[in-house]
Amino acid sequence: MKKVKIIEEQCIFCGQCEAIAPEVFKIGEKAEVLLEEIPPEHEESVQEAIDACPTDAIVWTEETTS
Ligand code: SF4
Repeated sequence: MKKVKIIEEQCIFCGQCEAIAPEVFKIGEKAEVLLEEIPPEHEESVQEAIDACPTDAIVWTEETTS
């Protein structure tokens, strides 16, 4: 499954990602990704959050298969 992370140095804590995908992102004292791996049914909302993030702070990190 795909993984996603927030580059904290780029995050301005605007809360957009949490508004779009509250099951995945939690923005409080720090920017958190709640799910270790993103299930397929959440991929679309995560992509929406990535597109909406004003500072491009959210990035996919592909699962490496070994
Ligand atoms: S949308 Fe981007 S800048 Fe805004 S809180 Fe989420 S990660 Fe941070």
